[in-house]
Amino acid sequence: MKLPCAVTLALIAMIDTIPVFAQGSPEQITEADRGRKTGAAIDPVTRCAIGRFRQCDIKLAVARGLFETGLSPSFPENAKCREIDDWYAMDYTSRRPREAYHGGIDIPAPWGTPMIAVAAGAVVGKYLGEHSARGIEIVLRHSPEDTGIPLWIYTQYGHFSEMPNLKVGQRVRMGEVLGPTGNSGISPRTGRQSTRRRPAIHFGVFYSTSELYADIRDTIIPVEGHWMDPVALFRKKLPLDSGSMKGLPEAEKQVPISIMFDDGEAFPANTEIVWPYTCTRR
Ligand SMILES: [Zn+2]
Repeated sequence: MKLPCAVTLALIAMIDTIPVFAQGSPEQITEADRGRKTGAAIDPVTRCAIGRFRQCDIKLAVARGLFETGLSPSFPENAKCREIDDWYAMDYTSRRPREAYHGGIDIPAPWGTPMIAVAAGAVVGKYLGEHSARGIEIVLRHSPEDTGIPLWIYTQYGHFSEMPNLKVGQRVRMGEVLGPTGNSGISPRTGRQSTRRRPAIHFGVFYSTSELYADIRDTIIPVEGHWMDPVALFRKKLPLDSGSMKGLPEAEKQVPISIMFDDGEAFPANTEIVWPYTCTRR
């Protein structure tokens, strides 16, 4: 990994001292809020790598795992599931004002299709997303006990048609309905609500060895956070970092996906992680 030069780091540190995080006042302490830190507590590299704010070098995000891995989902034979159209870390530069890579996967679905929680967890972020390409968004945090993976995992659900009826701090179960699919989110080129986007979920996943995170400019930033290919989550084991995923033998890049059927039955029955849309039986 190539580290950014000292000058870049110094510049980022300077920018980081600008007080952009004014919402630090103590609120009601909830289960999820135990991990909350103020923006100043996030180191400048992580802040830029995950936040990808305007002044940030995209190379920092790439160094934290935002690059293509070659993984693809393999759904159970007895299930008909919704498939990815825009892959993890695909080059979005032509759709953005500057170099950019897709920070998750998109799965198209008819308007109103319920997005479901991929694992048990707690709501840590809830955003109207009026200045975000992801639009109306929910972020969940999953403990190692929630997923069986020895990391703190964050899952991000975007493009709801309306704000889900969930509170920050609230626990959700695996498969619980979060809200209806829509196409909310601005076009980064025009800055206005996109009208042409097909209805779809934007599903992003992050991880950290720390349970701590901050909410900076409507973005959940885990302390020492990393990007990951959402398909890697379904391996349900380590490693799941992008470098290791890219290096897997081809056969292992087909990742078996565990799912929930429309009737609420999980497959396999003991899974703690499911696809963000239910599947239909064949
Ligand atoms: Zn997307």
